[in-house]
Amino acid sequence: MKDIFISIRGRLLLNVEALNMAESVGNYVKHRKVPVLVPEENGFVTYFVPAISGESIAHGFQKTLAEEAEKRSIAVCKLCSKGVFLKSTNNKVINEAFNNPPNTDIEEFIVKNCFVEDVGGFMYAEAENVKRTSNFYVGYMIPAKEALEHVVVDPQLHSRYALGTSFVAEQGQMIYYVELSSALYTFSMDLDTKYIGRLTFQYENAGKDLFEKDERRKRLDTVLDALKVFLLEQPFGAKKTRFLPQGEWNSIVISVSDKTWTASSPFTSKYIESTLKKKDKISYNTEIFVGKVEENNIEEAIINAIEHGKQRISVQ
Ligand SMILES: [Zn+2]
Repeated sequence: MKDIFISIRGRLLLNVEALNMAESVGNYVKHRKVPVLVPEENGFVTYFVPAISGESIAHGFQKTLAEEAEKRSIAVCKLCSKGVFLKSTNNKVINEAFNNPPNTDIEEFIVKNCFVEDVGGFMYAEAENVKRTSNFYVGYMIPAKEALEHVVVDPQLHSRYALGTSFVAEQGQMIYYVELSSALYTFSMDLDTKYIGRLTFQYENAGKDLFEKDERRKRLDTVLDALKVFLLEQPFGAKKTRFLPQGEWNSIVISVSDKTWTASSPFTSKYIESTLKKKDKISYNTEIFVGKVEENNIEEAIINAIEHGKQRISVQ
């Protein structure tokens, strides 16, 4: 069985979205915003623009991991299976999450009993600290460079009660504002299978397998299936019951390599070209899959990349 490193970079055109709200001030709910620095002729200029946090994306991916694991009867702790990613913070959480508290190595116990924490890591902060780094990496989604000057954030007025009913007579009509944004957003995610199903924390045991070969392959297949669902359906972000964005992938590049090899940043429009150029110079058995909305092959690129990844993992 071989390990792989998958790197995904892409751009999504999302209109009227409220995927990541940062705070509310009274009846005003604000979209998350971040500073973005761009070189200009005489120095730099900073834009303060809407963004979607990596935590928001990671939450969505971990939910997908839990769902795919349960379909295949792979153990997930009680909290992660419900989308509560406290992830073994302390003894109280562990006692709630697992039926039998650990009597062996903490990392071994958690990896064996919760697939989400095997893949997504955890931080156990008791007298003894035990940390497992996530095997996937996600970043903030920010507007693409050429869209920075055209990004819009607009507070939309909504009212909760209907006039003419007895409910509004006493207090008047309750109004509220939700900031909506429209932008061409970047997307970045990497996944390294090297330590999935393996110990990492104590240096003497780092890399030790915790599962038989077939069981580990099943776990890696499950991660890749979760990634496929995640990329095809984009199940991340908040407020989707009433602010479901109008949007879709604009372009995507996915690389599959033997070890760490990342695709180029989607911040600039030539990122697919840059990724292909990088492969000419350096390659760890790197294969690249490209999808573009104008060629109507985004889904095809995602499915082909994941199937290719699965085949590489299954090599003896
Ligand atoms: Zn868990």
